[in-house]
Amino acid sequence: MLWTQPELLRDVAPHSGRTRLAPGPVGAITDRVLVQSTMQHVGDVLPVIDRHRSGLILARGRSGEERTREYISRLRSDGFGAPIIYDSESYRHHTATADEPFRLHGEDTLLSLNLTASLDAQLLMGSDIAFTPTGVIEAGDTDTLKAATAQVAELDRKDTVFILPVDPSLLGIPYIDQVEAILQQAGHPIGIVLCQQLDPLEYTTRALIRNMRRLCRTVPYLGFFRTDLNALDMIAHGALACSIGTSGSTRHMVPASERVRFRVPGDSPSLLFPDLSSWQRGDTIAKRFGRRTAPRCYCAVCDGRTLASYLDRTDHGDARAHSVLTWQRWLVAIQRQPNLGDRATYWKAHCKNAIANHAILAAQLEQVRPFAPQVSLAAWASLDAWESMASI
Ligand SMILES: [Zn+2]
Repeated sequence: MLWTQPELLRDVAPHSGRTRLAPGPVGAITDRVLVQSTMQHVGDVLPVIDRHRSGLILARGRSGEERTREYISRLRSDGFGAPIIYDSESYRHHTATADEPFRLHGEDTLLSLNLTASLDAQLLMGSDIAFTPTGVIEAGDTDTLKAATAQVAELDRKDTVFILPVDPSLLGIPYIDQVEAILQQAGHPIGIVLCQQLDPLEYTTRALIRNMRRLCRTVPYLGFFRTDLNALDMIAHGALACSIGTSGSTRHMVPASERVRFRVPGDSPSLLFPDLSSWQRGDTIAKRFGRRTAPRCYCAVCDGRTLASYLDRTDHGDARAHSVLTWQRWLVAIQRQPNLGDRATYWKAHCKNAIANHAILAAQLEQVRPFAPQVSLAAWASLDAWESMASI
């Protein structure tokens, strides 16, 4: 199913344009940044999810499918009025190969041996749309990418997002032209999941961000799932839809061998530090501010509480809800811009402000080790807000 001729694909989201509504049921998530959560954490954030601009991606985590199905059914009968999507997280259990790009076998009875049946099973579970159960496509494996794309292109349905869990190097400079050409053949909305943390080297992060922005413009109906604030950068540059996780493990898909990076000792939760536009641990904020009063937040959850007071295990739920409320506020500001070019300009200014706040805080706190801006934030603040297609 191809809905656009290749020659019309250049710059589907021009500077002066708006995000295009995806056809069929996937249209319901157009221009939304959804909350990605496991069952374990969803109760913390459910009351603060913006029904008009967000929604829920329920990651399988350790919950069984039956329990998840019942939960989705309860959410619907309670009147949860935003999209709900079930994510089987196949990419956590399967490495894609050209012969087996999808995980079509598993311990759950709902998973079957056929791609169509697997997608139908997700809809039967109550999911508004289906995610292909794609395995992780490893570095350099364009053959598997082609094989997966060819199978998706043969599907005749408008309720499915082609989930593409990829090693980020596939979106790097050596591969981007080929990957873009392959994805333009999918004929279905695409949701990329980066299966590694962004490279800590700034020059590779900058190249990756430029290429991700490029894909949002040259491949119709493409978004990024299981991200952090990258979702806001993408939604400012024409992505179909994105999601932000409620925890470190749902904000990033990190291969099992690297998961140790998230194991920081202590009970203090991470939360969005609004002035710095970054996630920080409550105890780190407390340590950096010492006897000075840390910034207070007046969102509906914090109600004047200082960011340094998020220290215990019992604070995790509120930290998650505060973080969702904070990025949803930024999402509203981005979406109030009249077109994509203005969104991109607004987001760049937001990030420049956050970078400036790092320097102001460092001076105020006379810190030997100040808060360091994240590499991706520095890139969003310094890259051209909207590059011409000729330059990317
Ligand atoms: Zn707050």
